[in-house]
Amino acid sequence: MIIQEITCTSALSRCGFPGGGLAINPYAGCSHACVYCFARSVKRFSGHKKEWGTFVDIQKNIVEVLIKQMKSSIWKGEHIYIGTVTDPYQPLELTYSLTRKILTILSTYDNPVSIFTKSDSIIRDCDILKKMKRVHVNITVTTLDEKWKKHVEPNSPSIAKRIEAMNILSREGIPVIAVVSPYWPVFTDPDALFCAFKEAGIGEVMSESLNVVSGNWAGIENILKEHYSDIFEMMHTLFFNKTSFSQFYHRARGDIERAAQKYDIPVTAYFGMGYAKKFTKK
Ligand code: SF4
Repeated sequence: MIIQEITCTSALSRCGFPGGGLAINPYAGCSHACVYCFARSVKRFSGHKKEWGTFVDIQKNIVEVLIKQMKSSIWKGEHIYIGTVTDPYQPLELTYSLTRKILTILSTYDNPVSIFTKSDSIIRDCDILKKMKRVHVNITVTTLDEKWKKHVEPNSPSIAKRIEAMNILSREGIPVIAVVSPYWPVFTDPDALFCAFKEAGIGEVMSESLNVVSGNWAGIENILKEHYSDIFEMMHTLFFNKTSFSQFYHRARGDIERAAQKYDIPVTAYFGMGYAKKFTKK
């Protein structure tokens, strides 16, 4: 792993979410090394030549910069999203604690805060999260198949650890959204996932289709050819033929909405070009 300490001039950047808001990403690069990660496109701008997942830049002064920036009233009330590009709880966080320090600062402001992670390390910060009035934790779990997880998210914590983290956070009264992104053919079983989410106390689910962008198909293709050759052609057609893609995600939408109804957990699904927001009957 190539680790570099860098400095930043701003801790906050405008994020491209439909509702706007601000993004904080304490780390550039991500050692979780997910094959489908489209954050790898940042290499085009950062000048990194190494393979995605093999380098992490640490913004070592981000806490001091954030302290100064938050004093300005221009950010008042803005939604702040932590980890929009890379995981704020990747393993180096246990050494640097930048995310913990950022949360400590934000806990003294009223801004709504959302955190995105694939790591159970977030439970370390339960004490701060409990003090924050407007916080959501988004934890990604796309499958219950640990073997597939190991292939496509090689260095991230196990599914079992993440579901346990969901459970712990929920029990502590911290709202958790389960993120099923990407929704995989074959490997995403919505009924089984929602059953696990229900037991973990999840209050909401968000799901997205797989976007084949920024060169993320190459790694998926290698895994399929080497370990799942029997489904390679089917998967390739599904993601490279518009009709197959639409038909699959049309069915997937029905499947995930049925699971949402059955387990009474609201789901928002962004599949393909459109999206649907569905809430289960109370
Ligand atoms: S955890 Fe997120 S940012 Fe890190 S490699 Fe995986 S998808 Fe990319």
